[in-house]
Amino acid sequence: MWLGVITLFPDMFDAVTREGVFGRAVASEILSIEFFNPRDYTTDRHRTVDDRPYGGGAGMVMKVEPLQRAVIAAKERAPAATPVVLMSPQGHTFSQTKVSAYRDSAGLILVCGRYEGIDERFINHWVDIEWSVGDYVLSGGELPAMVVMDAIARHLPGTLGNQMSAIDESYLDATLDYPHYTRPETMASEKIPPQLLSGDHGQVAKYRRREALKRTLNRRPELLTTMTFGDQDRELLLEIFADRQPD
Ligand code: SAM
Repeated sequence: MWLGVITLFPDMFDAVTREGVFGRAVASEILSIEFFNPRDYTTDRHRTVDDRPYGGGAGMVMKVEPLQRAVIAAKERAPAATPVVLMSPQGHTFSQTKVSAYRDSAGLILVCGRYEGIDERFINHWVDIEWSVGDYVLSGGELPAMVVMDAIARHLPGTLGNQMSAIDESYLDATLDYPHYTRPETMASEKIPPQLLSGDHGQVAKYRRREALKRTLNRRPELLTTMTFGDQDRELLLEIFADRQPD
């Protein structure tokens, strides 16, 4: 996948592009990333990227022209039909469903806003999609873009050592992940659930599914309303209801 990031602060991305899963994906060329800094596309001596808002008020607004030139430069490098995504607290909430929908895209151009926001004419003309990472306002779109990049990168074939770990995670089928344990077998009085020590794959899978359903029911019950349940899930849910304890 090719990622183009329009940002005034490309150095911020060192934190994710050099380390961990994302860093390995870049090193092994599963992912390539290019930065386009609107400041490099200014024409005045002061390299101006923002200006005062029409109508007055606090804060500055990102100007259309440098952003527009940066997006044109990114589009020239991007695979055909790459969508332009604006990071925005006013966008649709970014979710695992969107990760699944976009992980097969050949490319994405992520636009990071700063200041009070971006001249609306740039958004109207150049932006295809707006994504929010949550109902709060951050100082810039860089952290949201890193969230999007990391969430997508873990689902590109070959990025994770064991591809199963991306298949078995929270939100993939609207359930939360089951609890995980590792050595030592006993910590204080808390032991490993016996099903995980049984060596019986069927028992392990059933235990994990039951815990995933129970956890989702206790913490995020609304997620279950989007699911179609098979016979085993229905049976497990009836068991959970029968001896329901808060998680
Ligand atoms: N005045 C804007 C508003 O109230 O909607 C907020 C501007 S914010 C200070 C500056 C930039 O940060 C935005 O243009 C956007 O790119 C980014 N940003 C802030 N919060 C975000 C969020 N929750 N999700 C995605 N991007 C966000």
